[in-house]
Amino acid sequence: MVDDATLIARWDGRLPRYTSYPTAVQFHAGVTEATVRGWLAALAPEEPLSLYLHVPFCRRMCWYCGCSTVVANRAAPVSAYVEDLIAEIALWRQAIGRMQPVTRIHWGGGTPSIIGPAEWRKVDSALRSAFAIDAEAEIAVELDPRTVSNAMIRALAETGVTRASLGVQDFDPVVQKAVNRVQPFDLVADCVARLRGARISRINFDLMYGLPHQTEFSVARTARQALTLNPDRVAIFGYAHVPWMRRHQRLIREQDLPDAAGRLAQFRAALAIFTAAGYVAIGLDHAARADDPLALALADRRLRRNFQGYTDDTAPTLIGIGASAISSFVQGYAQNAASVPPWREAIRSGRLAIVRGIEPDADDRLRALLIERLMCTLALDIGATCREHGVDPRRFADVLPRLDAMAADGLIEREGWRIAVTSRGRPFLRAVAALFDRHLDPTAQRHARAV
Ligand code: SF4
Repeated sequence: MVDDATLIARWDGRLPRYTSYPTAVQFHAGVTEATVRGWLAALAPEEPLSLYLHVPFCRRMCWYCGCSTVVANRAAPVSAYVEDLIAEIALWRQAIGRMQPVTRIHWGGGTPSIIGPAEWRKVDSALRSAFAIDAEAEIAVELDPRTVSNAMIRALAETGVTRASLGVQDFDPVVQKAVNRVQPFDLVADCVARLRGARISRINFDLMYGLPHQTEFSVARTARQALTLNPDRVAIFGYAHVPWMRRHQRLIREQDLPDAAGRLAQFRAALAIFTAAGYVAIGLDHAARADDPLALALADRRLRRNFQGYTDDTAPTLIGIGASAISSFVQGYAQNAASVPPWREAIRSGRLAIVRGIEPDADDRLRALLIERLMCTLALDIGATCREHGVDPRRFADVLPRLDAMAADGLIEREGWRIAVTSRGRPFLRAVAALFDRHLDPTAQRHARAV
């Protein structure tokens, strides 16, 4: 059997996470507010939407952070942002021209709960005046367990939040200190208990591997500790060290980081703890309890991948609200201005803040389907998918030699046009998906390493 070092040398690379295809790297300024207004005009009145709200502020910076966020030590910038967020909600309502049904809301950041209970209720009421929010809608929020007050939990519960996603990363104090995020196990346990006490019963944890001082043993210990809190879902993300793009990551000492083989062992160790406890491995880096909607969606082949990662959300349209938020339509993708000042300037002038996006062509759409199926189910029937779209599968004949090389290394199994990623190949899933990416620039430094 090929050893891990050889697998990494052959197949690791700087690759996208494929939360969309084409990926955001291909977005361009040709998609404008006018384009999006045209897409909205084609929306059927009964079609349910999903909403994503982005809050790009945090109390302090975690040094591993790869998100679009800034540190806010004062309330004023956050309150001003909330006012503009409410104005943007009204703009989308106006652009759609009616109260469109909504079945999903996801709050991400940053730290969405930084806005506090009073502002949270204001945004919730703005959403309910602009959209017909389904009584059974899943409303999910990303939380920082260090800063969630009881008053905030009450506001979340009273506004119908059903799922909370907590940034946990690692319980080892040495690791926490090295990444500037100190949150002892008891603090996280207390936060989970308070959320569940308020009937916010669906709990996700984000864990990380590849952080400074982490070892296979310490990551497994964190996974076991996390398991005692009975999360519904866990994401096991690899730390993406890209200090040339995220300056604060320079505060992480490179000599404290594990090498690629160490990272691979850490990921496998964490995932094995959860699967041994009955969790279902999902896609690239998730695990969910068998009764969680994500595991059920995987079993029913309804699992999707979008900008928030893996989801059972099947709504074709996602409206992104807030700076840097990405919207997704049947026709294509559109992104708001990435930083707050230009986003605010657009909103205050009565314009949607769209600055770029992409309208995929037919070839992109087929590749998007192949990549999404692979990223979700770890299996793909290239022949059947092509035939469903009236395309000769031989269009992808050029990937067959690479697939055979992957099969020889034990990462996939291939039978004709059908492939299945093995459990050994799971950490290399992005490398398999990348074979179908016609836009990929292998020399680009923008992405973190896949393993
Ligand atoms: S709380 Fe989350 S978004 Fe904020 S700095 Fe830390 S990792 Fe980044």
